[in-house]
Amino acid sequence: MTLEYRSLRFETEVLPEENHQGNAVVNYTEADIPYTRIIEHKHFEFGDQPSTVVTREYPANWAPGGEPYYPINDERNSSLYAQYEQMAQSEGKVVFAGRLGGYKYYDMDKALDAAFDLVERELGVAID
Ligand SMILES: Cc1cc2nc3c(=O)[nH]c(=O)nc-3n(C[C@H](O)[C@H](O)[C@H](O)COP(=O)(O)OP(=O)(O)OC[C@H]3O[C@@H](n4cnc5c(N)ncnc54)[C@H](O)[C@@H]3O)c2cc1C
Repeated sequence: MTLEYRSLRFETEVLPEENHQGNAVVNYTEADIPYTRIIEHKHFEFGDQPSTVVTREYPANWAPGGEPYYPINDERNSSLYAQYEQMAQSEGKVVFAGRLGGYKYYDMDKALDAAFDLVERELGVAID
Protein backbone atom coordinates (compact mmCIF):
# COMPACT_ATOMS: atom_id res chain seq x y z
CA MET A 1 0.00 0.00 0.00
CA THR A 2 1.15 3.52 -0.81
CA LEU A 3 1.26 6.54 1.48
CA GLU A 4 -0.64 9.49 0.03
CA TYR A 5 0.62 13.03 -0.44
CA ARG A 6 -0.61 16.41 -1.62
CA SER A 7 1.15 18.03 -4.53
CA LEU A 8 1.36 21.48 -6.10
CA ARG A 9 1.37 22.99 -9.56
CA PHE A 10 3.47 26.12 -10.12
CA GLU A 11 2.64 28.80 -12.68
CA THR A 12 5.35 31.42 -13.27
CA GLU A 13 4.83 34.71 -15.10
CA VAL A 14 6.90 37.82 -15.84
CA LEU A 15 4.78 40.91 -15.21
CA PRO A 16 5.55 44.30 -16.81
CA GLU A 17 5.41 46.15 -13.50
CA GLU A 18 8.06 47.02 -10.94
CA ASN A 19 6.18 45.73 -7.95
CA HIS A 20 3.25 43.30 -7.86
CA GLN A 21 2.50 42.63 -4.19
CA GLY A 22 5.16 44.44 -2.15
CA ASN A 23 6.22 41.23 -0.44
CA ALA A 24 8.02 37.96 -1.21
CA VAL A 25 5.13 35.73 -0.08
CA VAL A 26 1.39 36.34 0.15
CA ASN A 27 -0.98 33.50 1.15
CA TYR A 28 -4.54 33.22 -0.18
CA THR A 29 -7.07 31.26 1.88
CA GLU A 30 -10.32 32.29 0.13
CA ALA A 31 -12.28 29.37 -1.36
CA ASP A 32 -12.94 31.25 -4.61
CA ILE A 33 -9.24 31.93 -5.35
CA PRO A 34 -7.69 28.86 -7.06
CA TYR A 35 -4.10 29.43 -5.90
CA THR A 36 -2.90 29.30 -2.30
CA ARG A 37 0.17 31.48 -2.52
CA ILE A 38 1.99 34.00 -4.74
CA ILE A 39 5.76 34.27 -4.52
CA GLU A 40 7.28 37.48 -5.89
CA HIS A 41 10.91 36.48 -6.20
CA LYS A 42 12.59 39.91 -6.36
CA HIS A 43 11.54 40.75 -2.79
CA PHE A 44 13.79 38.00 -1.38
CA GLU A 45 16.80 39.92 -2.73
CA PHE A 46 15.48 43.51 -2.79
CA GLY A 47 15.64 43.56 -6.61
CA ASP A 48 14.91 46.88 -8.38
CA GLN A 49 14.30 45.64 -11.96
CA PRO A 50 11.55 47.34 -14.03
CA SER A 51 9.62 44.03 -14.31
CA THR A 52 8.88 41.30 -11.79
CA VAL A 53 8.57 37.49 -11.74
CA VAL A 54 5.73 35.88 -9.79
CA THR A 55 4.93 32.21 -9.16
CA ARG A 56 1.40 31.13 -8.26
CA GLU A 57 1.02 27.85 -6.34
CA TYR A 58 -2.07 25.73 -7.07
CA PRO A 59 -3.08 22.62 -5.08
CA ALA A 60 -2.69 19.44 -7.15
CA ASN A 61 -3.50 15.79 -6.66
CA TRP A 62 -0.58 13.45 -6.24
CA ALA A 63 -0.17 10.02 -7.84
CA PRO A 64 2.81 7.64 -7.61
CA GLY A 65 5.59 8.98 -9.85
CA GLY A 66 4.51 12.59 -9.24
CA GLU A 67 6.25 15.09 -6.98
CA PRO A 68 5.08 14.71 -3.34
CA TYR A 69 5.06 17.99 -1.38
CA TYR A 70 3.02 17.44 1.77
CA PRO A 71 2.11 14.32 3.78
CA ILE A 72 -1.59 13.70 4.44
CA ASN A 73 -1.65 12.99 8.17
CA ASP A 74 -5.15 11.47 8.34
CA GLU A 75 -6.12 8.22 10.08
CA ARG A 76 -5.52 5.92 7.08
CA ASN A 77 -2.07 7.28 6.28
CA SER A 78 -0.94 7.65 9.91
CA SER A 79 -1.81 4.02 10.60
CA LEU A 80 -0.07 2.88 7.38
CA TYR A 81 3.01 4.94 8.28
CA ALA A 82 3.05 3.34 11.77
CA GLN A 83 3.17 -0.09 10.09
CA TYR A 84 6.10 0.98 7.90
CA GLU A 85 7.87 2.29 11.02
CA GLN A 86 7.37 -1.06 12.72
CA MET A 87 8.74 -2.93 9.69
CA ALA A 88 11.77 -0.60 9.63
CA GLN A 89 12.46 -1.21 13.30
CA SER A 90 12.37 -4.97 12.80
CA GLU A 91 14.92 -4.59 9.97
CA GLY A 92 17.23 -2.76 12.38
CA LYS A 93 19.16 -0.92 9.63
CA VAL A 94 16.51 1.40 8.23
CA VAL A 95 16.16 5.03 9.33
CA PHE A 96 13.46 7.40 8.09
CA ALA A 97 14.70 10.99 7.85
CA GLY A 98 13.44 14.38 6.71
CA ARG A 99 10.02 15.80 6.03
CA LEU A 100 8.87 13.18 3.52
CA GLY A 101 10.70 10.25 5.14
CA GLY A 102 9.28 11.19 8.57
CA TYR A 103 5.86 11.77 6.97
CA LYS A 104 5.40 14.97 8.99
CA TYR A 105 4.72 18.53 7.97
CA TYR A 106 7.95 20.30 8.96
CA ASP A 107 8.81 23.95 8.40
CA MET A 108 12.56 24.57 7.98
CA ASP A 109 13.21 25.04 11.72
CA LYS A 110 11.49 21.74 12.57
CA ALA A 111 13.29 19.96 9.69
CA LEU A 112 16.64 21.06 11.18
CA ASP A 113 15.63 20.12 14.74
CA ALA A 114 14.57 16.66 13.56
CA ALA A 115 17.85 16.18 11.61
CA PHE A 116 19.95 17.19 14.64
CA ASP A 117 17.93 14.83 16.88
CA LEU A 118 18.43 11.99 14.41
CA VAL A 119 22.21 12.54 14.26
CA GLU A 120 22.36 12.57 18.04
CA ARG A 121 20.26 9.39 18.32
CA GLU A 122 21.99 7.41 15.56
CA LEU A 123 25.58 8.66 15.82
CA GLY A 124 25.71 9.81 19.43
CA VAL A 125 26.88 13.29 18.35
CA ALA A 126 25.12 16.20 20.06
CA ILE A 127 24.59 19.34 17.95
CA ASP A 128 23.63 22.55 19.79
C1 LIG B 1 5.91 24.03 -1.46
C2 LIG B 1 6.59 24.11 -0.11
C3 LIG B 1 6.68 25.34 0.51
C4 LIG B 1 7.33 25.46 1.74
N1 LIG B 1 7.42 26.68 2.32
C5 LIG B 1 8.06 26.81 3.50
C6 LIG B 1 8.18 28.08 4.12
O1 LIG B 1 7.71 29.11 3.60
N2 LIG B 1 8.84 28.15 5.32
C7 LIG B 1 9.38 27.05 5.92
O2 LIG B 1 9.98 27.17 6.99
N3 LIG B 1 9.28 25.84 5.35
C8 LIG B 1 8.62 25.68 4.16
N4 LIG B 1 8.50 24.45 3.59
C9 LIG B 1 9.03 23.30 4.30
C10 LIG B 1 10.53 23.09 4.05
O3 LIG B 1 10.81 23.25 2.67
C11 LIG B 1 10.86 21.68 4.50
O4 LIG B 1 10.55 21.52 5.85
C12 LIG B 1 12.33 21.31 4.32
O5 LIG B 1 12.77 21.56 3.00
C13 LIG B 1 12.46 19.86 4.63
O6 LIG B 1 13.82 19.49 4.47
P1 LIG B 1 14.19 17.97 4.32
O7 LIG B 1 15.66 17.91 4.22
O8 LIG B 1 13.50 17.18 5.37
O9 LIG B 1 13.50 17.50 2.95
P2 LIG B 1 13.69 18.03 1.48
O10 LIG B 1 14.09 19.45 1.45
O11 LIG B 1 12.44 17.60 0.78
O12 LIG B 1 14.93 17.17 0.95
C14 LIG B 1 14.82 15.78 0.68
C15 LIG B 1 15.87 15.44 -0.34
O13 LIG B 1 15.96 14.04 -0.47
C16 LIG B 1 16.02 13.72 -1.84
N5 LIG B 1 15.48 12.37 -1.98
C17 LIG B 1 14.19 11.96 -1.93
N6 LIG B 1 14.12 10.63 -2.09
C18 LIG B 1 15.38 10.20 -2.23
C19 LIG B 1 15.94 8.91 -2.42
N7 LIG B 1 15.20 7.81 -2.49
N8 LIG B 1 17.30 8.83 -2.52
C20 LIG B 1 18.07 9.93 -2.45
N9 LIG B 1 17.57 11.18 -2.25
C21 LIG B 1 16.26 11.30 -2.16
C22 LIG B 1 15.16 14.74 -2.53
O14 LIG B 1 15.50 14.89 -3.89
C23 LIG B 1 15.54 15.99 -1.73
O15 LIG B 1 16.68 16.66 -2.25
C24 LIG B 1 7.86 24.31 2.36
C25 LIG B 1 7.75 23.08 1.74
C26 LIG B 1 7.10 22.98 0.52
C27 LIG B 1 7.00 21.63 -0.13
